[in-house]
Amino acid sequence: YFITFEGGEGAGKTTILSKVGDQLKKQGYDVITTREPGGIDIAEEIRNVILNPNHTKMDGRTEALLYAAARRQHLVEKVYPALKQGKIVLCDRFIDSSLAYQGFARGLGMEEVFSINQFAIEQTMPDLTIFFDIEPKKGLMRIIENKDRERNRLDDENLAFHEKVYEAYLLLQKQFSNRIKSVNADQKMELVEHDTMEKILSFLN
Ligand code: C5P
Ligand code: MG
Repeated sequence: YFITFEGGEGAGKTTILSKVGDQLKKQGYDVITTREPGGIDIAEEIRNVILNPNHTKMDGRTEALLYAAARRQHLVEKVYPALKQGKIVLCDRFIDSSLAYQGFARGLGMEEVFSINQFAIEQTMPDLTIFFDIEPKKGLMRIIENKDRERNRLDDENLAFHEKVYEAYLLLQKQFSNRIKSVNADQKMELVEHDTMEKILSFLN
């Protein structure tokens, strides 16, 4: 199964993903964990191009196409082979990030961004998506308190931008409520982890 983690900045996706990955492995599930953009060399290089703060001239559509390109290569090199072997793939971000960030918050249009992504993913959609629901202000506060993390995009993206990202995720969650399950991310990490495990196990069983 292909399971993705989605949400805004500071929601805890990365932290919970690694913990949930470990717990599932302990319970005997065959799991790999990965992230987008990245997960394999070519896509990590594309990630560095996209997130390089010196690239101030990057056009929005160029950015959306680079995310889609990284997504494609990551699927082909890592996700598809793992799924073929019957593994559970836990992925930090996937297409919903593009729809929320580039489609909605950057204003390219969710339909348009979906259509370039269709070329990249063909028919591949996640079987389950966990949406880590936290008010953007609170998520951003966590990052500020946690200064050691790589967070190069927060300077030029203001709160209004992240509120749009959040609004988009809420829309997606409503529209695809069969696939996207929300977890309250505004609680202690142990509880977020617990709720996430619960959602995943109830999907698997
Ligand atoms: O997943 P992570 O938080 O490491 O993402 C790195 C950065 O990429 C974030 O700051 C996020 O704002 C940005 N991003 C984006 N559009 C996407 C995916 C990620 O702007 N589709
Ligand atoms: Mg993260």
